[in-house]
Amino acid sequence: MTDKYAVIGNPINHTKSPMIHGSFARVTGQNIDYRAIEGSLDHFADDVQAFRKAGGLGMNVTAPFKLQAFALATERFERAELAGATNALKFEGDRIIADNFDGVGLTSDIQRNLGFPLKGARMLVLGSGGAVRGALLPFLAQQPADLVLVNRSEAKAADLAAQFAAYGPVRACGYGDLAGERFDIVINGTSASLKAELPPVPVEALQDAKLAYELAYGKGLTPFLRLAQNAGVPKLADGVGMLVEQAAEAFVWWRGVRPDTRSVIACMTVPLV
Ligand code: NDP
Repeated sequence: MTDKYAVIGNPINHTKSPMIHGSFARVTGQNIDYRAIEGSLDHFADDVQAFRKAGGLGMNVTAPFKLQAFALATERFERAELAGATNALKFEGDRIIADNFDGVGLTSDIQRNLGFPLKGARMLVLGSGGAVRGALLPFLAQQPADLVLVNRSEAKAADLAAQFAAYGPVRACGYGDLAGERFDIVINGTSASLKAELPPVPVEALQDAKLAYELAYGKGLTPFLRLAQNAGVPKLADGVGMLVEQAAEAFVWWRGVRPDTRSVIACMTVPLV
């Protein structure tokens, strides 16, 4: 019997999730059918319900449904609760269980795949949207020395920093307040790169950095990564590793087997030029 899983989003035509999960299933010998569903903007809950009725066991959730999926859940893990959003659902009888693996996927990619420990690191995170919100708990669990959040709408960064202050050393400031600050790891968690824009981060903030990480993936050298390259940052990375690692976490949650991610990341990596 083939177990059914899916990713739901809108639009969904460019999703890489069926390819990633198909690859995980092949190498781990799991018999699953994983497909992409274009969710209706007005009837997301009905689409999830229809998939459950058809025997679906779990779903990845992508934009713009992460908040609606969170609201639909009957149970939520702390990571999802704090993020206020979910990117993975598991269906067990009447239960709809929600988790959020974006942050843990990002943390694994930075530490395990790229080899940059977060413990003791001075971190600068640009943006305060859904992806950053999901990453803060996993980041702070690694005990960085300092985590500075900056956002175009400064109040959003300040609210997030206040919400997560109990979990570690997180503070917010404006882009204009970064002069004189130095960081080991700078992460672009804004969506600016999707429009080929550069968040207004001063180049000095990248001067000591050993890693510049762009959450967007498949875009090559984005304006942020180009700025980092010009500042002499020795390691540049995009979010393809995060994408594959979060998928692997969902796969383990659903199937109880951990797939190897390295070969999948390698075949999806686009050169940063
Ligand atoms: P959201 O829409 O929730 O948040 C967008 C953030 O970007 C906000 O903080 C916004 O600031 C900021 N922003 C947008 N444009 C600019 C700009 N021109 N200059 C400065 N700041 C800007 O998006 P998400 O958090 O969902 O996604 C953020 C990025 O992460 C995207 O590139 C997305 O593709 C990527 N992502 C990657 C994943 C992966 O697996 N690799 C998974 C999830 C996301 P303001 O609040 O002021 O509007």
